[in-house]
Amino acid sequence: MTTTAPDTRRWQFLDDYCPQCNPLGHNADSRVRLASLTEPTEVRRSGSTGAVCRYVCTLCGHTWTRSDLWTAQSAGLDTKQPKEAA
Ligand SMILES: [Zn+2]
Repeated sequence: MTTTAPDTRRWQFLDDYCPQCNPLGHNADSRVRLASLTEPTEVRRSGSTGAVCRYVCTLCGHTWTRSDLWTAQSAGLDTKQPKEAA
């Protein structure tokens, strides 16, 4: 098994806390934070600079989306545009 697939995207920097399991967010105990930390199952672009992340909690099954948490740039969606003549 090789794990060097270059197309594997890691979204761990886009994670969020499950609001059901961890309503306190980053103020919660570190163990609670780790347990409730969820990686997005889907990341979509929102507008020109925003990003919408969809999450499914592995603990309670709660699904939620965040559109205010990450930007397209932080999500890696803001790929450099090729220079185009105006
Ligand atoms: Zn949960």
